[in-house]
Amino acid sequence: MENLQLTEKLNKPSILDLEKEDLNKIVAESGEKPYRAEQLWRSIYKECNLDFSEITTLSKNFRNFLSTKFRIGTLEKKIHINSIDSSTTKLLFGLNDGELIESVLMRYTSDYGKKGRKTACISTQAGCALGCTFCATGQQGFRRNLTSGEIIEQVLQLQKIALKEDLLEVEQGKRKKGEIQGITNIVYMGMGEPLANYKNTIKSVKNVIDNSGINIGSRHITISTVGLVPKIKKLSKEKLQINLAISLHAPDNKTRSETMPVNKRFPIEELIDVCHYYVEQTNRRIFFEYILLEDQNDSLSNAEKLGKLLNGLHCHVNLIPVNPTTNGVYGRTDDNANRLFQGVLKRFGIPSTIRVEKGIDINAGCGQLRERVLSTN
Ligand code: SF4
Repeated sequence: MENLQLTEKLNKPSILDLEKEDLNKIVAESGEKPYRAEQLWRSIYKECNLDFSEITTLSKNFRNFLSTKFRIGTLEKKIHINSIDSSTTKLLFGLNDGELIESVLMRYTSDYGKKGRKTACISTQAGCALGCTFCATGQQGFRRNLTSGEIIEQVLQLQKIALKEDLLEVEQGKRKKGEIQGITNIVYMGMGEPLANYKNTIKSVKNVIDNSGINIGSRHITISTVGLVPKIKKLSKEKLQINLAISLHAPDNKTRSETMPVNKRFPIEELIDVCHYYVEQTNRRIFFEYILLEDQNDSLSNAEKLGKLLNGLHCHVNLIPVNPTTNGVYGRTDDNANRLFQGVLKRFGIPSTIRVEKGIDINAGCGQLRERVLSTN
């Protein structure tokens, strides 16, 4: 009997997959007053209630009505670990079909006013088809696209943690009540290629920027892509003021194709052309991600080529020392070589940052926790 009830619950659709307007129809169908739709939205997305029983502002009848038709949360938390320095929390979630995905919360203390930035890094696919050789997810293959609800729920789960910490700091007198902020930034940089799951990714972005819900400003949201050229073109027309990050990782086709098979479909020239187009259409600067792989793409001549390639493009380069993976073949470039590489870019007038590394001790790189769990089971 218990099993039957559980199966029934698991088969119900998640209300997180619905759009705001859909809630109006549900409320009308239930016979409740129209303002209940906004109340329900706020309870889920502002207060992060992931079970109807937690929403005590709604009548018991209405909650029962909702729970006969829907559920809210569908992710099952399997692992929750914190890095030694407490800056990073990584969660491994089970989906209702048994797939596993990862989400990460990163805390920065020094670069976002007094109270620090908190960034949620979320997944858009279980696995990934694009097979980048330096990436643990790429080594696992594609499983399936996430629904928009599964993408949004990762934000809500991380938001619960972030808000709880803020509230604790209020109690301890370290933060004022008006300074409760929760998550400040979202990066679509977890498992999967967000633009390969375009519809659900954009639907989730529209949800998280809604100012009566999660309310993260568009400019604090970054979508990271390996460079699916037609989808970048499509994104440029969405009128979203989000950031676009391109995983470039090499300055020429030969080097890039060695680590990123997608480069054979969309070579660098096409990619850079569409980047110029994107900047023209949106007036937004593009971020290029460049993972430094020892003896692969980190020489000074690579830096020269990169400088020439990006010359004249409104952009910023993030240089990222590679995360070691269990089966990884690339070593880490040392700090001095990182700085020399950066110096060359500076000569070309290209701004760059060497990214602060987080969560190395808890396998915070994309797909690494899932990989570790599966290899130890
Ligand atoms: S880096 Fe991104 S696109 Fe490449 S395999 Fe990993 S998840 Fe997929």
